[in-house]
Order: sequence, then structure tokens, then C-alpha cells
Amino acid sequence: MEDTMVLTNVAEVLACPVCTLPLAFQQGALRCEHAHSFDVAKEGYVNLLRKKLPGDTKEMVVARRAFFDQGYYVPVSDLLNGLLQKHLPAGTKGPVRILDAGCGEGYYLARLQESLASEYGQLQGLGIDISKDAIRMAARRYPDAFFLVANLKEALPLADQVLAGMVNTFAPRNVAEYARVLQPGAPLLIVIPGPRHLEELRHSLHLLNIEENKQQHVIEQFSGSFDLVATRSLTYKLDLQQAEIAQIVVMTPNYWHQSAESRTRLAELAALATTVDFVCLVFQRKLSVTN
Ligand SMILES: [Zn+2]
Repeated sequence: MEDTMVLTNVAEVLACPVCTLPLAFQQGALRCEHAHSFDVAKEGYVNLLRKKLPGDTKEMVVARRAFFDQGYYVPVSDLLNGLLQKHLPAGTKGPVRILDAGCGEGYYLARLQESLASEYGQLQGLGIDISKDAIRMAARRYPDAFFLVANLKEALPLADQVLAGMVNTFAPRNVAEYARVLQPGAPLLIVIPGPRHLEELRHSLHLLNIEENKQQHVIEQFSGSFDLVATRSLTYKLDLQQAEIAQIVVMTPNYWHQSAESRTRLAELAALATTVDFVCLVFQRKLSVTN
């Protein structure tokens, strides 16, 4: 099994989600000394959830991959890659481990790992998502990264201060846990929708609004354990045909909330130019954190 090396390397930073003891890779499973055991799936990922929790459905993940595969969000991905490279502490030695917290089907993590590979020989990308369907698709397509099904809102299955950097794109945030698993001084990149994100589309289809003051809210959330070192906005226009418009609706939380009227409007919408608006907040974990 070609994933064995990845697993052996990764296992040394993993912590049992039940008892927090270290996990080791043995006989096709991750095990702790208390005999908690989590099977490695044939695609190479590990499911650490003890019960199924609501996450993105297969239909949502398939739509997202189809949308990403057309390159619409390459500029966001490139921005993330450039910012992480710039803010990773110089002279980082040993394995450089990067987590995508809320990685979905792996698009951003895979491009990040690829962009950093030439600079950092021992680079290990880790992806966590609550959706097993998303993680299965990620693990299948990107065997060089390691993927876990886990809940970002609970204790992360990682030992203390093992990560050189982290990205979090349109995903749940857990300040205390992100501070615990990141090395002092390590960068944390958080991407949130800006106020104009998909505004034409949201208006036309009566979709969910962007939370007001989201940026300020996130900055305040992280201010205890992190310093904000940069803020970058990225805004551009997309010309979408009906198929891609439908993908956007399905790949976002609108999937759960769309009204019958909105569905009818979508069916009648042949094409639309819409704005995408991203805000990337670059935080740096404080050198010492008191929790
Ligand atoms: Zn355990």
C-alpha cells in the first residue's frame, strides 16, 4: 500500500480523539495505548468520528469539485499559497506540516502542497473535514496528502504545536484548538466571504446573506491567541452559465435553505455575471498563549 509511508510519517503527530494519547499506525489502523482503534479506509483516509455528523453531502461535494475543476477559484488558491509561503517562518526544519481545517474535497490543500513542495522537501499536507463523502473524494484524488474525518468544533486529533501553518477557507473555526496545534509564530490563514461575495447571484436567487461585520467578528475571535499580521481582499467577476450557477448553489449552505421560488428562478436563469469577493486574514500564533 503506497500510503503506508504517509501514514507512518503522519501518525507521529496524531492524538487519539477519545483519550488524547498518541496514535500509531499498526496493521491497517491507527491505535492508541488504550486500544482505541480507527481503521484506515482503502482510499487511505481515517474516520475519527464515532458517529455520523451532518456535513456536506455527496451531491454538494460533487458540485464543488465540478466548479473548482473549471478554475474559477484559482486566484483565491494562488493568493493562499503565496501568503502562506511568505509567512511561514524562515529556516523551518524537519517535516513542515500544514493543515487545511475544513478541507472539503481537497482542492486548496492539494494546490498548496504542490506550490510549497519545491521549497520544503519534507512537506506534509493534512486535511480535516466533517464530511466523509468529501474526505473520501479528497483521499482518492490526492494520495500525497493525508485526510481525516473529524469535527473541527471538538478537540482536534493532533498533538500540541505540531503544525507549521494552517489554512481555513469558508469553514468552521476553533480558536483554542488552532492555537494549541500550531507552533508559536506559525501562520493561520482564514478566508471568509467579503460583503460583495456573489452579490448578483444572491440577489437574483434570493440566497443566504453574508453575515454582517464578519471580518471584525473573526478578528476579535482570534485576538487572544493570534496577532493579525495582514489582511488581503480579492474581488473579481465571474461569467457563469446555468450549470455553474447551479453548482454554486448546491456547493454552499444554500443547498439546505433554497426556496421553491428560488429554484424556479434558477431554472430560468441562463447566464449571470457575478462578483466574487474574498477576504484573507493572515494571523500569526502568539509566541506564548495563556488558555
Ligand atoms: Zn485512545
